This record gives sequence, C-alpha cells and structure tokens, in this order.
Amino acid sequence: MAAFEYFRQNVEKAAGLLGLSEEERTRLTTPDRVLRADLTIALDAGGQATFPAYRVQFNNARGPYKGGIRFHPDADEDEVTALAAMMAIKCAVVDIPFGGAKGGVAVDPKKLSARELHKVARAYVRAFGEHLGPDKDVPAPDVATNAELMGVMRLEYENIVGHPSPAFITGKPLSQGGIVGRDTATADGAIFVLASLLADNHKDPASLSAAIQGAGNAGAQAAHLLSAMGVRVKSIADQSGSLICAGHVDVETTLSIKSAKGSVRAAYCEGTVCDAARMEKDKAQVLPSDAVLYDDVDILVPAALEEQIRMDNVDKVRADIVLEVANGPTTPEADEVLGKRGVAVIPDVLSNAGGVTVSYFEWLQNKSGEAWDTARVHDRLSETMQDAYRDVADFALSHSITLREAAYALALSRILDR
Ligand code: GLU
Repeated sequence: MAAFEYFRQNVEKAAGLLGLSEEERTRLTTPDRVLRADLTIALDAGGQATFPAYRVQFNNARGPYKGGIRFHPDADEDEVTALAAMMAIKCAVVDIPFGGAKGGVAVDPKKLSARELHKVARAYVRAFGEHLGPDKDVPAPDVATNAELMGVMRLEYENIVGHPSPAFITGKPLSQGGIVGRDTATADGAIFVLASLLADNHKDPASLSAAIQGAGNAGAQAAHLLSAMGVRVKSIADQSGSLICAGHVDVETTLSIKSAKGSVRAAYCEGTVCDAARMEKDKAQVLPSDAVLYDDVDILVPAALEEQIRMDNVDKVRADIVLEVANGPTTPEADEVLGKRGVAVIPDVLSNAGGVTVSYFEWLQNKSGEAWDTARVHDRLSETMQDAYRDVADFALSHSITLREAAYALALSRILDR
C-alpha cells in the first residue's frame, strides 16, 4: 500500500475519535502545495544526468513549513507527501511552532561522487528556492543527506537572495551556524521517550534487551545510548546483514568496524568468508538483514527505512516494545496486530521528533544570533520529549487507545487549534 494511504488511515482513526467534520478531515489530508522539478547536473565523467525532485509543503497552520530532504532512488511524490504530512504531525506532537514539509530527490547517492552530490544539492535549492526561506519553509537533512550538504544548500540560497540567511536550513555544520547535538538528536530524543515509558511501567533498563535495525546515524547513536543506560544490545543490523549475539553485541567495536569497513557484518566476515571460531567464541551469528526484527528481545528499534514490520512478518516479531526511530517502519495492519497483542509501539511521530526539535533550537539560535551549548540543548530536548511523551501517554490512557492514535489525535487537535 502507498505511504500516503497509511497516513490517511491514521488521520481517519484520530478524526473519528475527535469527531472531526468532513471539511476538517479533507483539510488535514490535503497538501498545501506539491512542487516538482527535474534536476540536471553535469557528471564528472562527462555527460549529464537528470533526477526527479520534490518539495511537498503539507500544512503551515502552526508555523513555517519544516522538514528534511532525502536522496533515495525510491523517493516519489506519494512518499514525500506522506513524510511531509508526518512532519506536520510530528511538530505538533512536540508542540514546536512549525508546520510540515518534506523534500526528496530520486537519486542513488552511492552512484554519485561528492562533487556530483553537491551539484544535486545546489540544483535543488535553485529549483525550489523561491518557495523556501527562514519564515516560509525550512529544510533539513533526512535519509542520505547530511550536515555538509546542508552547508552547501545554505550557501546556494544566500547566493540567490544576496544576504546571509543562516536560519534558511537546519542541520548545518557547526562552522556554518549548526547547533551542537543535532547529529545525535533523533536518537537522543527517542531514548528520552523510551526512558519515560520504562519509568511509567516500572521497568529497569538493566533487565531488558534490545535489537536495532539500522546502523546509520540514528541506529548507531541509539545503540550507544541503549548500552549506556544498561540495556543489553543483543543484535544490530544494516543492509549487509544482522549481527545477533546470544549475550550482547560489543557496540563500540562493531560500530567502529562499521564506520571503517562499511558494514556490521565486517565485524566477523570478509566478503563471504566469516570467522567461525571467533563467532562461536562470542556466541555471535551473522544472518540476513531482516533477522534482527525477529530476535528474542524486549525492545525492537527499527531505525532504517519504511515498511519493515508488515502483515507477512509481524507474527515473527517477539519484542514487547517497538521504538520507531525510522519514519513509517510499521504498516497500519501490522500496527493493529501488535496493538492487539499488547505490544507498546512508540510511534515515529513521537519517538523520532527529537531531530526536528533540535532543528527548531538551531533555527532559534540562528535567528537570535546566540550559540546554544551542549547542556542547554540536552536539557531543552529532554524536557520537550518528556512533556510530549506525558501528553501522548495520558491521552492514550484516558481514551483507552494506542500511543499512535493518541499522538495523531493530539497533533490534529493542535493543528486545528481546538
Ligand atoms: N528529517 C528529520 C525528520 O524526519 C528532521 C527534519 C528537520 O529537522 O526538519 O524528522
């Protein structure tokens, strides 16, 4: 099913609960503006390539449009629209004064050089620049885009408008107006929410185990934080495979091997040859990349891409808590199955909202000209995420609904200002 249909279903459920009118439902499920362009760049080897690009501005009822730009071969209008809509929900859940937008370029970043990626980033700003701006629509990083590219985009925007505009984009390098802690903010926020849920349920992190799907920025930071809080990280996976341990994964070593060699599999294997003796000694297994989802753990952290937990595999998921660090990792049908089984799914629009929250701090910092320090970012993020969790959890409890239903209902009522 298409990504936007998932969003629509989540809105419908919440709308029923809130008793929204047809007109309100239509307003909440119709993007304000869908922008498309073809980005053409000159390739290093000569010749040109063209990539379809999108910027969807979903809703700005609560403030300027806000949302990242992803570079991914599958990016299309439906997906970008769904993600833009989710940004509007996310910003309302954490109660920051932004609306929702998202951008995407249908490009495989692994096939382009750094120079070519910079050209794509600049072409994106030239294509959509007139609709962007610090008080209109503020982009940020998303899948396969990073601080460096945000810096490139800021410079391109400033070339167009002819004056400095640091608040045009967030997730920038520190040297270009970025904020400390933006790179770890998504996972930091998710862990604050998880810690609140565990405290609510009188669960001791030291008695729990976790499996993490995704060893990119958010997945890796989540693994570090979980093990720092005493949770036993049993497995971690990326596209190359799942590393599953009977005891626990050596998070530090595995992630530094991943950074050096490009995969978690490389902790034990070179190409197709794996070090069986060392694996046996460490009680470790290297399995296909989806195996991580089915490991026998308390907490499952999908921190990769969409649609990982579906009807065809939900029965194999054994965790009691699913912390959605990725956007849209659970399909609505699978979500319902998990809900009926009593699994606590901490929804993406709450658990990964730490990223955009620290983007908001960066935007404030740029607008006021001050520089926030680590302690200030940490404290404000922790406060924002804990408050958001409290609001959502209380709403869920008082209406006997899931955390996702509560997050959507709360966000929609804030967007409609009811
Ligand atoms: N791309 C991130 C998200 O999906 C962050 C967006 C932002 O910082 O504006 O939430």
